[in-house]
Amino acid sequence: MTDGQIVKALAGFYFVDTGEAIYRCRARGIFKKDGVTPLVGDYVRITVQDEEEGVVDWISERRNAFIRPPVANVDIFVVTVAAAEPEPSLELTDRFLVTAEAADADACVCINKDDLSPMQAKRFAGVYAGIYPSVVMSAVTGEGVPELRRLVAGRSAAFAGASGVGKTSLIALLTGDVGLETGDVSAKTGRGRHTTRHVEIFKLADGTKVYDTPGFTSFEAAEAADLSDANPDALFPEFREYLGGCRFADCRHENEPDCAVRAALESGGVKQSRYASYLRLLEGLRDAAPYGR
Ligand code: GDP
Ligand code: ZN
Repeated sequence: MTDGQIVKALAGFYFVDTGEAIYRCRARGIFKKDGVTPLVGDYVRITVQDEEEGVVDWISERRNAFIRPPVANVDIFVVTVAAAEPEPSLELTDRFLVTAEAADADACVCINKDDLSPMQAKRFAGVYAGIYPSVVMSAVTGEGVPELRRLVAGRSAAFAGASGVGKTSLIALLTGDVGLETGDVSAKTGRGRHTTRHVEIFKLADGTKVYDTPGFTSFEAAEAADLSDANPDALFPEFREYLGGCRFADCRHENEPDCAVRAALESGGVKQSRYASYLRLLEGLRDAAPYGR
């Protein structure tokens, strides 16, 4: 028996890195029977069969798991936007951040393409100041790359963000891999970007693990219940200090009297866009609830 981590999944095989070698493994039949799918990022125990092959026998309990993309054990989400091209979306950013909170992962906000619109980058960073660590950067000029490295150092980091914001470019900068295909290249070949690519973990020299999850613009937590079980207001870290101050213990911070969250909205302790995202989440969960509320 050998311990390792699944670093790539391809065509029914799981590539397990044991620290000494990478074994191409099949999963034991029992997993399928139990409805368990091994995920990239899973810590596993394998039986080595020969120099190259093995069998996944056991999967360690997961910190978190996602269906889309199929990965597990993410420490930190790097929620990435572009200062321009495409225009950054506060709404989409908040959706990723909420997913990260619900999945018990850390998050940071990465504002790329500062070279295109420094004003916009600064404004965007301002929204998250004091809530999430953020870095303003440019994959073109290299600005901010050391800060990004520091934010993810030694952790399992997954990039999330809309297509075209520069995720592949940033991962290529971190890994030093010039072979990663960015939007430019595929425009020439005319092929859909990343269509043939897979989820893979890249290890950096300092032990950081970068999950390359091309082609995914949203992370969907494995248990749909994850989000509906959570208190929506607990998914907005800057709300926390106010929650005890509402008149009603079960305050939803909508129209209730003496609501400390809405008071914080007035005084600037809570930002308008974040509160709007909170209301949208509340709405979404209500729609999903079986009997409404
Ligand atoms: P992804 O879809 O998020 O993986 O984005 P890509 O890494 O493929 O980048 C999309 C496009 O934006 C490509 O044409 C990149 O060359 C370009 N790009 C990436 N980062 C920057 C940046 O910091 N500044 C500018 N001006 N362009 C960038
Ligand atoms: Zn309230």
